[in-house]
Amino acid sequence: MSNRTFACLYCKKLQRKDQNINAFHCPLCGRESIRVHWKLHVPSPKKKKKWNSFWDRYLLELRQIEEFKSNKNIRELRLPLLNIRLRQ
Ligand SMILES: [Zn+2]
Repeated sequence: MSNRTFACLYCKKLQRKDQNINAFHCPLCGRESIRVHWKLHVPSPKKKKKWNSFWDRYLLELRQIEEFKSNKNIRELRLPLLNIRLRQ
């Protein structure tokens, strides 16, 4: 059984939980945490610059994936952080 990192961006809290959990709500604020892709290492919240830069890039790539799925005119998508290339 393997775990995933779940992150609450409001509390800047990381938790490791079973990968099969679909949603995990932050025990501090009750908001839904973001499940992080297994390939990625989330920087420590104490390293503010790295933390912010990571989340800027990761959330952007998640938005790009959604856009890619809903827009068939986008033929190819490159995601440098996730290190993948999608085609349709
Ligand atoms: Zn929280």
